[in-house]
Amino acid sequence: MAHPYHHALSSVKKWGGTAQDYQRIHDWFDESKQITADFRHRALRHHAEGIFMAETIFGKTITLSTGRIIPVRWIGEQHVREDLGFIPSFADWVKAIRPEPWMGRAHKLETETPQEVAA
Ligand SMILES: [Zn+2]
Repeated sequence: MAHPYHHALSSVKKWGGTAQDYQRIHDWFDESKQITADFRHRALRHHAEGIFMAETIFGKTITLSTGRIIPVRWIGEQHVREDLGFIPSFADWVKAIRPEPWMGRAHKLETETPQEVAA
């Protein structure tokens, strides 16, 4: 499993600059290791929607220390391809989740009293 630093070094090979220029983006993709210590952590951000989410967080582009401008999407695509070999959609991950009864359970909603609404 590639460390975010090694993904950053790979970005440097592709587009120049320093590992630090890319580090925060690669760190973000792998932060889900804090939740799940094995490779299943990738289900959270390693897919097409995750790459677009990175754009909303880091912007459409970053400016490297060299002044070169690189699309954040390219960096996300590089990260996910290096880890998985392709870019899955989130639907690909969902297909691998075994449904459990609690996932589809619905409970009756509590009705609000006028006092609660006013508070
Ligand atoms: Zn990763």
